[in-house]
Amino acid sequence: MQRTPFLDLPPLACAGGSVALPGSKSISNRVLLLAALSHGTTQVRSLLDSDDTRVMLDALRQLGCGVDERGGGLVRITGLGGAQPRSPARLFLGNAGTAMRPLTAALALLGGEYELSGIARMHERPIGDLVDALRQLGCQVAYLGNEGYPPLRIAHGGGRPALQLDAPIRVRGDVSSQFLTALLMALPLTADTQDIVIEVAGELISKPYIHITLELLARFGIAVQREGWRRFTIPAGSRYHSPGEIHVEADASSASYFIALGAIAAGAKGQNGLNIEGVGLDSIQGDIRFIEAARAMGAQITGSANSLQVQRGTWPLRAISLDCNHIPDAAMTLAVMALYAEGTTELTNIASWRVKETDRITAMATELRKLGATVDEGADYLRITPPASPAEWRAASIHTYDDHRMAMCFALAAFNPARLPVRIEDPGCVAKTYPDYFHALFAVTKAASADIPVICIDGPTASGKGTLAAAVAARLGYRLLDSGALYRLTALAASQAGIAIDPANEAALAQLAASLPVRFQAECVLLAGADVTDTIRQETIGMQASAVSRLPAVRQALVALQHGFRQLPGLVADGRDMGTVIFPAANLKVYLTASAQCRAERRHKQLISKGISTTIDSLRADLEARDASDMQRSTAPLKPAQDALLLDSSGLTVDQTVAQVLDWWQARRPFSA
Ligand code: C5P
Repeated sequence: MQRTPFLDLPPLACAGGSVALPGSKSISNRVLLLAALSHGTTQVRSLLDSDDTRVMLDALRQLGCGVDERGGGLVRITGLGGAQPRSPARLFLGNAGTAMRPLTAALALLGGEYELSGIARMHERPIGDLVDALRQLGCQVAYLGNEGYPPLRIAHGGGRPALQLDAPIRVRGDVSSQFLTALLMALPLTADTQDIVIEVAGELISKPYIHITLELLARFGIAVQREGWRRFTIPAGSRYHSPGEIHVEADASSASYFIALGAIAAGAKGQNGLNIEGVGLDSIQGDIRFIEAARAMGAQITGSANSLQVQRGTWPLRAISLDCNHIPDAAMTLAVMALYAEGTTELTNIASWRVKETDRITAMATELRKLGATVDEGADYLRITPPASPAEWRAASIHTYDDHRMAMCFALAAFNPARLPVRIEDPGCVAKTYPDYFHALFAVTKAASADIPVICIDGPTASGKGTLAAAVAARLGYRLLDSGALYRLTALAASQAGIAIDPANEAALAQLAASLPVRFQAECVLLAGADVTDTIRQETIGMQASAVSRLPAVRQALVALQHGFRQLPGLVADGRDMGTVIFPAANLKVYLTASAQCRAERRHKQLISKGISTTIDSLRADLEARDASDMQRSTAPLKPAQDALLLDSSGLTVDQTVAQVLDWWQARRPFSA
């Protein structure tokens, strides 16, 4: 779904259930390093699986730490516990600033011989202020490329270098807070007998991240004393100790979309609001204060240390006026919540939005206006008044500016009272922090079945329906129903059960069809757990499928299963009776044909490439027989639906047929180009 040029969200009706959010990147890599420097083994739970955490884990392995990946976000780290890291070592750290900076500091203080490098972009990211601070202490750090940037070489062969720790260590705070974080995490290694003082020069940026560092240090036994944001003291006798087990919090900014969802969406039947797992009231992340803002707008939020429960409270939401300086990222979600508020919401002190992934103030104003809102935009504020009535809402195609947060928060516009769909352009941009966002969203939201779009592609055997349907589904990010597979599976199950495909056995065959133990898993079809993907493609099974599909009771038995495929965000269904019987009100029906000769040739090519020998003539005879049987049967005979668009693919390439169907689809969508 993620690589599609756009994703159309049908109007969403309600939300409920539970969502487990991915772990925070900043916390993941800090926890890994702290565990690696500690005495004892730490069970790290809910670790984020990303490029940046992967390079950190690899580096820790090389340095001699015990790294035991148990899957499902569980990793056990056995720390060095005062031992020297393995040296010499060459560490490749990708583009992970959260690995490069703290590892440089820790290894420089511990001594040994190391080279630290990354991808080209990493070698453009400054590290000079940190290296200056380390050299000031007596560490040996050299630049292997440009002065001030990685790659670096640390060379102190004879164990720990002698360090000058009497004077306060000065570090700049206005370039990256990661320099201070690196020192705060490394210096406890040297605080055996004396207090160590770090002083920040210049205004410290990104204070919430230093807060995270200090909180995590405390969990590993280091109680840093802080005077404002200028002076930090690591007390003498500080020593890293594993807390035994630690949960990586989920990303609090990602939580904002689901908190907003709970506040906006009516509860799903039988479910008590939305449960958000992985981040809770004890969160150490700055964006958790989004909760206060969401409550002010009307959300009902309760929670525990590591989870949140959200329900719609005041409805419509209350408009608020809020200084958002403390929650710059999560505040974008408030701008979309404002669409559901009574009155004008004012978000102020958001000048930093202008220098993020995109100019978020202009982007937000532009896209909110497309939906019908009235937006007043200033240098550092936004005022948002929602559409005055459902009739004022517009079906909009939301441009996302390669900004993951634009894509994620605008998905919430799908709850509009006008029940209009919302198009999110370039939905794949969410991968930056939450690759699975849309899947997670669809798992906890519901739309009225009639609002979930269905595209039907019917036609005779070997007309290319399967290929076309799969390609269209992939382009739209929709689900796929290969209904022929269900008849093939029924035929296979019958032969396995020793039931002859004969009208005399109709009831037994229907019972079999009604309870097929089938699972569709990625590209595979499983019957009672066994992979039958290739087996059901055999020509003999196709002929048996045709025979079993003539039995009305079997067809009836498969209806519910087929309807079940109509799920968010939409469905492309291929078969013989998708448009005539199963989804008679489908949004688009295509009847795909090709001459019998052409279809026989295509199938021949396909089979030959699989090493199955056959002749075009025999294939043509088979598929003409199958066509005749499908067309002449009394129930659901193969024929175009009255409102189907005919597409003859005889002279067309697959790409041409796909383009044609997408054009037809686009013409039926309400979004203006
Ligand atoms: O499309 P496929 O060749 O996989 O379908 C196998 C057989 O199942 C077809 O020949 C047809 O008889 C039957 N079928 C059907 N209705 C559908 C899909 C397939 O009767 N919707």
